[in-house]
Amino acid sequence: MKFPNREKLEKYAELALKVGVNLQEDQKLVLNAPIEGAPFVRILAEKAYTMGAKDVHILWADDALTRMKYEHADQDTLSVVPEWQQKQFTEFAEDGAAVLSIMSSNPDLLKGIDAGKVAGANKARAEAMMSFRKYMMSDRIPWSIISIPTPAWAQKIFPEDSEEEAVEKLWEQIFSIVRVDRENPVKAWDEHNETLTMARTYLNEKQYSKLIYKAPGTDLIVELPENHIWKGGRRPIASGNEDIPFNPNMPTEEVFTAPHKYGVNGRVSSTKPLVYNGNMIDRFSLTFKDGQVVDFAAEEGEETLKHLLETDEGSKRLGELALVPHESPISQSGLIFYNTLFDENASCHLALGKAYPNNVSGGSDMDEKELDRHGVNDSLSHVDFMMGSAELDIDGVLEDGMVEPVMREGSWAITF
Ligand code: ZN
Ligand code: ZN
Repeated sequence: MKFPNREKLEKYAELALKVGVNLQEDQKLVLNAPIEGAPFVRILAEKAYTMGAKDVHILWADDALTRMKYEHADQDTLSVVPEWQQKQFTEFAEDGAAVLSIMSSNPDLLKGIDAGKVAGANKARAEAMMSFRKYMMSDRIPWSIISIPTPAWAQKIFPEDSEEEAVEKLWEQIFSIVRVDRENPVKAWDEHNETLTMARTYLNEKQYSKLIYKAPGTDLIVELPENHIWKGGRRPIASGNEDIPFNPNMPTEEVFTAPHKYGVNGRVSSTKPLVYNGNMIDRFSLTFKDGQVVDFAAEEGEETLKHLLETDEGSKRLGELALVPHESPISQSGLIFYNTLFDENASCHLALGKAYPNNVSGGSDMDEKELDRHGVNDSLSHVDFMMGSAELDIDGVLEDGMVEPVMREGSWAITF
């Protein structure tokens, strides 16, 4: 695979380490990386050491070997995660390591593999990662997700092009969307974070009791928990130094909060395909009653959607509600990325499954029972799906029942 020039890659690496995980001196860095990205990963590691990293630990992923395992290993083997694997993640978290993940999988990686086999393996992995995920989802360690092209992924987005052209085009898209092509990317991110801060500050002051969504195929009322908190962009580490904020996703264009797990009613239709564990779910709808999915349909990947919903009790309820204006740079690219990191930041979205405890005041200090009482959902899964478009209208209902527009035709109807 062809890589852009070193100068560009160094700029991207620096951005991911400084703005993404905000790596500190003497901190350990864990890198989840695709094998195709080795030349870039070496640059990342070198930069990290230059910045004073204590150690850089790489966890390689190879799509070809992953698929091979699903083809050959039996269900029982796939459904067990060895204890040493779980332990390494807990150790990373206890060490306060920064975790940077490069998400670049082939969207069709597990196409044709038995959906039950995939669901079983996925659930086992989610259970094994439960304690580590708690560290991440309550911001106790800095983490971030970025992407680089891989040939299979690039050609899914640009099917008409040769592998080389597709990869080159995707690098260009990523650099533009992540602002690597700006004169000073770190400064550009500071400004971007300011805009997201203004949006969430506005929404936090409003404290809407519910949001009403209307679009073709969507007619949904979502109640918000009392004392909910909108987040977005840069955020501080929960336990520790407030002065070391990190950016969990690059790109990120969303402000988000927790829906009330028992307060979702109506129907929502997806607007972009959802790639879930190497399989595609497309043109689907969910019907909610009192927070729970009571009916669903998908034109593609219905079996995968069914398994996702059946993961556990909480996977049938919502854990995130995110607002993204339709004029976001990713949306303007007009592309479908078949990668949630990009597609969710082009579109208003919701997530099935676990909510971020910090989306309600004091949430990171609450146990599961307390979170439940506050309407904060719990699940092994957390899966974002896109339902925004240029046809989406959202109203906010204030505590006193007054209704005001929040979004019109996919764009902000408020000024902040
Ligand atoms: Zn999101
Ligand atoms: Zn999410």
